[in-house]
Parts: sequence; structure tokens; C-alpha cells
Amino acid sequence: MTPAALGLGANLGDARAALRDAVVGLAATPGVQVLAVSGLWRTAAVGGPEQPDYCNAVVLVEAGMDADALLAVAQRLEAAAERTRDVRWGPRTLDVDVLDVQGRRCEGPELTVPHPRAHERRFVLEPWAQVAPDWLLHPAGLPARTVAQWAADLARDDTQAVELVADGPWWR
Ligand code: ATP
Ligand code: CA
Ligand code: CA
Repeated sequence: MTPAALGLGANLGDARAALRDAVVGLAATPGVQVLAVSGLWRTAAVGGPEQPDYCNAVVLVEAGMDADALLAVAQRLEAAAERTRDVRWGPRTLDVDVLDVQGRRCEGPELTVPHPRAHERRFVLEPWAQVAPDWLLHPAGLPARTVAQWAADLARDDTQAVELVADGPWWR
């Protein structure tokens, strides 16, 4: 079994319900075991057009499948939420990114692991640090550091406002 971290985000429609459905959908997926779910965060959109704030969370799973199959699971959840792709980094009903898969590195257009922008994003790192602060994140071409260390670097970045809105089992 392989530990993996998934990043969830939504800012169209009932974003909180979309994230809850995604966690429930992951837990119901054969070969996927949910180990931990972060709190629910409200975050300012980073990049892309002017758009509403996001709901974000990070889920740790054990995946009895390779990274490509995990991406397919992520995309199935997005499809179930009627995700469309019109504008790059535009608003979306659900985004599920494969942030990292332990022991796996790949660089391709369909799948890059670790996710190439995860270490730059407070909306990823803050929830991730809640569930796995010691996770060693090694982006291509950069040093390996823990998720907590990457998060600490951005803690004073006031262009990336983040706020914890629900802790505990918000997905139930
Ligand atoms: P970002 O990748 O900067 O978070 P995004 O999530 O808005 O942007 P999408 O439109 O959801 O980008 O995805 C574009 C493509 O990225 C997908 O078709 C997918 O194949 C590819 N991709 C590459 N690596 C990953 C990964 N680690 N997780 C999810 N998708 C990935
Ligand atoms: Ca994304
Ligand atoms: Ca994505």
C-alpha cells in the first residue's frame, strides 16, 4: 500500500458539499483507504481570473494502486461534480490534485508527482501540515523539506490569505 496526499478545492456552487462528497467518494473507492482528512479552509484564489474564495482540504490515503490510477480516481470525482475546464485556473465545482505519492516521482503532461506547484501554495500546505507535517516533499530541482517547513516559508505571504473554517469531521 502506498501513502498519498490529495488536494481538494472548489469555489462554484455548494463548495463545501462538493468537498464532502469527494471525501465520501474517496472512502467508497475500492483500493483507497482514507487515513486522515484536514480541516476545511477558506482561501483566496491564487492566479487565474477574479473569482470567489475557495474551500480547500487535503486528504491522506493509502492507495492500493499506482499514481496514474489515483489520478483517474481524482478525475472521476471531478466528473461526478460536473467539473468543466473553460479558463485555466478559473472557478470550478471540484478540483482534485494528486499532491504526492510516497516513493513515486514522475514528470509528464498527464501526471507530474510531486505536484509541481504544491510547495508554493498556502491553500495546499496549511491543510496538508494539519494531517502530515513531517511528510517529506521533494519538488523537482528543489531541496526535500517537510510540509511544515514549506508551509512556514509562506506563513507571512499576505497575498495568500487562508482561514480555517471547520475542524473535526466536517465531511460527515
Ligand atoms: P494546477 O495543476 O496548477 O493546480 P489545475 O488543477 O486548475 O491547475 P487542471 O485543469 O485541473 O489544472 O488539470 C490540468 C491537467 O493537469 C490535468 O488534465 C492532469 O492530467 C494534469 N496533471 C498533471 N499532474 C497532475 C497531478 N499531480 N494532479 C492532478 N492533475 C495533474
Ligand atoms: Ca489544482
Ligand atoms: Ca487539477
